[in-house]
Amino acid sequence: MNVDPHADGVAVGIARDVEVPRSLSPSGASTFRQCKRRWKFRYIDKRPDPPGAPALRGTFVHHVLEELLAAASAHRTLERARAICRDQWPALAGNADFAALELSADDERAFRWNAWRDVEGFFDLVDPTGVDVVDRERDLVATLDGVPFRGIVDLVDRAPDGLRITDYKTGRPPRARFVDSRLTQVWLYAAAAAALGDEVSEVRLLYLGETGNGRDTRKPVEIARSFDHDAVHAAVDEHRVTWDRIGQAAGSGEFEPTTGPLCSWCPYRDDCPEGQVEHLRRNGLAA
Ligand code: SF4
Repeated sequence: MNVDPHADGVAVGIARDVEVPRSLSPSGASTFRQCKRRWKFRYIDKRPDPPGAPALRGTFVHHVLEELLAAASAHRTLERARAICRDQWPALAGNADFAALELSADDERAFRWNAWRDVEGFFDLVDPTGVDVVDRERDLVATLDGVPFRGIVDLVDRAPDGLRITDYKTGRPPRARFVDSRLTQVWLYAAAAAALGDEVSEVRLLYLGETGNGRDTRKPVEIARSFDHDAVHAAVDEHRVTWDRIGQAAGSGEFEPTTGPLCSWCPYRDDCPEGQVEHLRRNGLAA
């Protein structure tokens, strides 16, 4: 792999006309670990990965909470959040990705209801009037163990002993055995913030709600951890190993597929013979 010293001192690896992205985000690293071929489609070939309803709902809820926390603390009420939802809805409804979902009127109502339940879930977990906001949607750019890192933190606020890093999730909370791997993202954010001079005392994931039908199925969950050097070190180490493997894959030109349940939701399956076979097999459609 040739290494080209580039702007901002970031190295760009080039091999066999493969240009590796200049930085590695937690989601990019996760995609590579799940399936190298999918990562290549997404990050090298830059094929579109149109967001589905869950991703669009997540984006909408993030925007609502970002605006809510921009208000003076006394104004961060449920009524204000409801007004923000109403104000922001036309922008989402007019979005091409949303239109492409072709939701029925009932499905659109369910979408709005689930998004609102996520916002309510935030209020169940957090008293927004008591949040000492330092940053919202903070763009973190840092070098972690030689790896150019980039990530966007949903919320940085002041906790009693330092800064707290928070990421909102609109999907389901993980089972106990997957909690540690889900925390990797916020540990990386903590590492990047620390590298930039911040004193981070806590990280947390806020799972705002589930996607069942009906208010009684909503179960917002908070997963919080005090700053843990070992966990941060492990996350950074895993990130560096992934970056090294990306370089190796770029050098060889080999991005092999990893088939599994995710193939059924992969936007690139039509161009992936192994993924097509896997999808058919899992759905009982194989010849
Ligand atoms: S269909 Fe499956 S194996 Fe193919 S790129 Fe997508 S996730 Fe990877």
